[in-house]
Amino acid sequence: MSSQTPAYDETTPSARDVQAEGFVRFVNVEKTFDGENLVLESLNLDVRQGEFLTLLGPSGSGKTTALLLLAGFELPTRGEILLAGRSLHNVPPNRRDIGMVFQSYALFPHKTVFENLAFPLVARKRPKDEIERRVAQALAMVHLTGYEGRRPRELSGGQQQRVAVARALIFEPKLVLMDEPLSALDRRLREQMQMEIKHIHESIGVTTIYVTHDQTEALIMSDRIAVFNNGRIEQLATPKTLYREPKSTFVAEFIGENNLLGGNVVEMDGGTCTVEIDGAGHIRALAVNVAGVGSRTNVSIRSEDVKFDPPEGACANRFEARIEEVMFLGDHSRVRVSIGTHDDFVIKVPGDDRDSSYRPRDVVTVGWTREDGRALDAP
Ligand code: ADP
Ligand code: MG
Repeated sequence: MSSQTPAYDETTPSARDVQAEGFVRFVNVEKTFDGENLVLESLNLDVRQGEFLTLLGPSGSGKTTALLLLAGFELPTRGEILLAGRSLHNVPPNRRDIGMVFQSYALFPHKTVFENLAFPLVARKRPKDEIERRVAQALAMVHLTGYEGRRPRELSGGQQQRVAVARALIFEPKLVLMDEPLSALDRRLREQMQMEIKHIHESIGVTTIYVTHDQTEALIMSDRIAVFNNGRIEQLATPKTLYREPKSTFVAEFIGENNLLGGNVVEMDGGTCTVEIDGAGHIRALAVNVAGVGSRTNVSIRSEDVKFDPPEGACANRFEARIEEVMFLGDHSRVRVSIGTHDDFVIKVPGDDRDSSYRPRDVVTVGWTREDGRALDAP
């Protein structure tokens, strides 16, 4: 090939666009291990170049399986996976140019930090001076300069995980996969590492697919989050949109604190509806995911969207509520109230002195706007 021949992704705008949008693509991917149960059910997912995308979901929802298919350690039962516009079918794992970090650090226990980091470069037959330079850069990136001679057992859990992150990035892969890399660390270290990984991503911009079952971690770190449930993506959106505009009861419950009131849709009016709540009267809500009049629904209301003593006319939904319990949490309080027959309705009150005025058994008025109630599916 002549050196004048441009690479196709520089000449074909459509190919470049496809890569920017669908740098990693799962196209109708199915996976079954036993020929019967689908662990992944027609998975379609486009990951943009340079983005930090998180697969979030409960244990057993198929997150690790999706990563293993992408890395090439398992094969899809059906469908296709593409990386940078190329099908990965028949490409062995070591030819996929993907860096990986797992929950268990998976460092070589008898090799030094230097040897662990050099390994991917030695395997790629890089010259010695380049290896030394890159190892030094990688150690600086994860704040471990000076640790090259240590062995993994001489490092803390957090330090070992930093070496694992550095090793996944050292050969400048097209893509990095991280499967619950922080779940073995204690909370403080986990929070610190979340920020470090996020900063590393911001500075080098490598496309990253991150797996976690921890919603806070996903909200903090991600450009977008794909919420997994039973081998399917329930919703793919930015953290803000997922939190503010959940499209299903599963997503509303999985992310953030949330009150669910079950009932029947009695009226539909464009994008809004009226719901007769079991044992509590009527409320008006956005009709987000309901079939029509007569269908069952769960209305989701975020705890922080409920107001005490709202002025007349400010809220479409007003109820008498009985205070059951006041929980002081420092920066905020959680007030549990009864509305009709629902005794587990939680209201979040910011941390001023108002919480002290609520006493169990008091009867108060609470309210929220029509837009703060979302009528969702009733699984
Ligand atoms: P997650 O990472 O979301 O916890 P996994 O992808 O590990 O979920 O697993 C999804 C489902 O696939 C689970 O029910 C799990 O038991 C099953 N599974 C995963 N790997 C295998 C395997 N090698 N053989 C059989 N079943 C498996
Ligand atoms: Mg897993």
